[in-house]
Amino acid sequence: VKRIGVLTSGGDAPGMNAAIRAVVRAGIANNIEVFGIYNGYAGLVKGDIKPLTNSDVGGIINRGGTFLGSARLPEFKNIEVRELGVEQLKKHGIEALVVIGGDGSYMGAKKLTEMGINCIALPGTIDNDIVSSDFTIGFDTALNTVVDAIDRLRDTSASHARCSVVEIMGRHCGDLTVWGAIASGAEELIVPEKGINMDEIVAQIEEGKKRQKKHFIVTLAELMTDAHELAKEIEKRTGVETRATVLGHTQRGGAPTAADRVLAGRMGAYAVDLLIEGQGGRCVGIRDNKLTHYDILEALDLPRVFDETLYNLAKQLS
Ligand code: ATP
Repeated sequence: VKRIGVLTSGGDAPGMNAAIRAVVRAGIANNIEVFGIYNGYAGLVKGDIKPLTNSDVGGIINRGGTFLGSARLPEFKNIEVRELGVEQLKKHGIEALVVIGGDGSYMGAKKLTEMGINCIALPGTIDNDIVSSDFTIGFDTALNTVVDAIDRLRDTSASHARCSVVEIMGRHCGDLTVWGAIASGAEELIVPEKGINMDEIVAQIEEGKKRQKKHFIVTLAELMTDAHELAKEIEKRTGVETRATVLGHTQRGGAPTAADRVLAGRMGAYAVDLLIEGQGGRCVGIRDNKLTHYDILEALDLPRVFDETLYNLAKQLS
């Protein structure tokens, strides 16, 4: 393989820049030309494609977001639209692609492979919801952002003996909330895998009151209930003044942590190795700190296993 492309797709995540940098530098080290495709599959279809040099990816390892830009193009599900993308790649002589994104982006990569363009997908999302990898690029940074925010909330909650409900991202995956709860010492955690148990939350706060606790942090995964309504309900049932904070998109930004940069570097270089081997339709994962790869369709079919041990630990230590 002489010429490859790299794109970022779906929601952005810190560490995507580090992954692009790794693909470019590992490619060039292997005498492969690397082209940047701007704005995901949308830019691919439009031909928004430029060659990248080692210096083009200098000074970005520490930057959040993705300098290539990301986009969503639902029409990419249509073969006629994908054909436009394949034409653009052929025009530029690009034989293979590295796609950095979430599960939707994985599907696009699989379908492009079926059309003759070998694609390797990398897990780029803060949600940690890609089952074929223990960790996704961006998760560790978002986790640190969450913990930093909760530390601040704890200071002010403690001063006023308040309860704080903190809504955390993750879509249908509770990992950011579970890890965030353990790392911040939250009193309660509510995740989609377990549902909401109001009585348990109230009992926990009542028990804390007896011990003269000065603060209560309730972490809540997004899309489960309205954080402000939950705060009102807690206040009504416990008498403890309660405020809600929705962390929102701040969780998607910021300089990537060292762990995310290293993960992105390893995965980016590994993707290039796989393309050199002639592999396509595969996605990279990390399992027990070892890089591995799966067929994309098999990866998307893997059942999600919720880490009960970690959840119970968060409960036990609260
Ligand atoms: P995130 O996890 O951050 O949402 P994602 O990659 O899952 O990232 P999606 O919007 O689901 O985000 O997908 C990104 C893009 O991938 C879509 O906008 C579309 O262009 C392409 N895509 C998604 N599903 C398919 C599919 N079934 N076939 C072809 N392309 C797809």
